[in-house]
Amino acid sequence: MRTAKLIFTSGLFFLLFLQQDYTREREAMVKTQIQARGVKDSATLAAMRKVQRHKFVAANQVSSAYSDGPLPIGYGQTISQPYIVAYMTEIIKPKPNYTVLEVGTGSGYQAAVLGEIVRKVYTIEIIDKLGKEASTRLKDLGYKNIEVKIADGYHGWKEHAPFDAIVVTAAAEYIPTPLKEQLKDGGRMIIPVGSPYMTQQLMLIEKTGNKYRTTSMMPVRFVPFKRSE
Ligand code: SAH
Repeated sequence: MRTAKLIFTSGLFFLLFLQQDYTREREAMVKTQIQARGVKDSATLAAMRKVQRHKFVAANQVSSAYSDGPLPIGYGQTISQPYIVAYMTEIIKPKPNYTVLEVGTGSGYQAAVLGEIVRKVYTIEIIDKLGKEASTRLKDLGYKNIEVKIADGYHGWKEHAPFDAIVVTAAAEYIPTPLKEQLKDGGRMIIPVGSPYMTQQLMLIEKTGNKYRTTSMMPVRFVPFKRSE
């Protein structure tokens, strides 16, 4: 009888363990890493609280999913630090009616955060396997408003342009002209610019008519923006 009870109790704990959804870890992440550093936009904070970051990392990284740094996602790539994801989301001033282009799908995490806020997210990944994994993951998690394409994001996604905002999550040596051109009038792009494997600058580009205003926001380190041969 006691054994049966023990088995029942441990079974219950095991089920609880399986269902662990890390709500508390996400709450702590938002408070101590994101709000503490000045991110205020309520839609961004709500998305960061909601998206299950642990579902975007490898099984052996789950316990670090809510830590204050980037994490490896395979193929030499990384999922950005939570604060940087939140910062880049807030800076484009996302609105529910927005169509956003992301370049550098990676795990799909940044796309999911955007997808919680805006109408439609188009995201491009250059590494075939990563793009396919992200696409499957996003579908399994129920994101119906995110479309993944495997391509060199340098060229943007002409069929769906112009975009209200563009988020680039790989460091380019310069700002790709096609991406600037695919911004709407009044649109905003956030992109790390600089040499690979060095500190880069996160740049904000604001388009008004044919004019672009570029502002350096902060030093960052991103994986390199690659070009297809
Ligand atoms: N936003 C991702 C993190 C991306 S890491 C996330 O939330 O997980 C940067 C990604 O950009 C890598 O997956 C890399 O393969 C991809 N990348 C690099 N150059 C690219 C290019 N020219 N076009 C599309 N993707 C590119």
